[in-house]
Amino acid sequence: MDAKIRRIERALEALEPKEADCTICPRDCRVDRRKGPAGVCGSGVRAGISTGLLHYGEEPVLSGRAGGAPEGSGGAPPRGSGTIFFTGCNLKCLFCQNYQISWEGRGRILTEDELAALMLDLQARGAYNINLVSPTHVIAPILRALRAALAGGLRIPIVYNSNGYEKVDVIERLAGIVDVYLPDLKYFSPEVSKKYSGASDYFAHASQAVEEMFVQRPDLVLDDEGLAREGLIIRHLVLPGRVEDSMAVLDWIGRTLPPDTALSLMSQYHPCYRAPEDIRRPLGAEEYRAVVDRARALGLTQLFIQPEVFGTDDHLVPDFERGDPFRWRPQEK
Ligand code: SF4
Repeated sequence: MDAKIRRIERALEALEPKEADCTICPRDCRVDRRKGPAGVCGSGVRAGISTGLLHYGEEPVLSGRAGGAPEGSGGAPPRGSGTIFFTGCNLKCLFCQNYQISWEGRGRILTEDELAALMLDLQARGAYNINLVSPTHVIAPILRALRAALAGGLRIPIVYNSNGYEKVDVIERLAGIVDVYLPDLKYFSPEVSKKYSGASDYFAHASQAVEEMFVQRPDLVLDDEGLAREGLIIRHLVLPGRVEDSMAVLDWIGRTLPPDTALSLMSQYHPCYRAPEDIRRPLGAEEYRAVVDRARALGLTQLFIQPEVFGTDDHLVPDFERGDPFRWRPQEK
């Protein structure tokens, strides 16, 4: 752990000065976050969180195996992923399911000691890992809290659960600190990423970031219970009417990364918040199937596939006004 703490110190030496003239992410807002919430992400130098909980709906290698116990666990129920949802976001997709926290900033600001205590509490409650959701814009306060948590006995893997809109030089600073990278690779086309997320350079940055994550954590390493110790899992949410863009994302993965790269193909799209007219409908089951078939045709062997599309029912969309925003959704590998 001392080595990790030393890496955090070095990362902070590079990242903390950026808070005064923020270039932490590709938005390059160049605002002084020490003066208060600012920039596209709307964040200051402290992290806000909506909630921290044991999450049972992530990929089985993070949450525990669907339908019961992880293999080899002796029949105990899964203990879940220790998931912390940070408020604000540097990407802000128009259709965001988590818009209450990403756009509206609902939540509370934590001191770094409070955030460290939350991490340790999740570990004490049995979490398999600390799963940092939307960490990009608050990476500096997260690292300060992580330093304290590690000194206080945090031992479980750190999962970096990001929208993928990252600066590669920031990801380079996280080498040896993050154990499992869980980036989205949302779009290929600049037109599509501009339309839905206001970021025509999304793929240019996200693809570089994913390549760097692969350099750091090339193999998905599982423990005896089938839970991720380290590695890279790329997530891709299939959007209705945008199957071609999904195919282009998959083709890039097939060309660039080994066939055993873990890929989580997500069918859980539901038209939320300000979803534009052309994606204001659920994903079709046949659309999702076509993307899964393409992944298989490319020879990708480590696929996480969701069992069904969401349909028109929105009861599975998280509601961060509730104590427990989620219903458990099983996934199959
Ligand atoms: S982290 Fe926030 S303030 Fe900094 S560049 Fe990105 S969106 Fe702008």
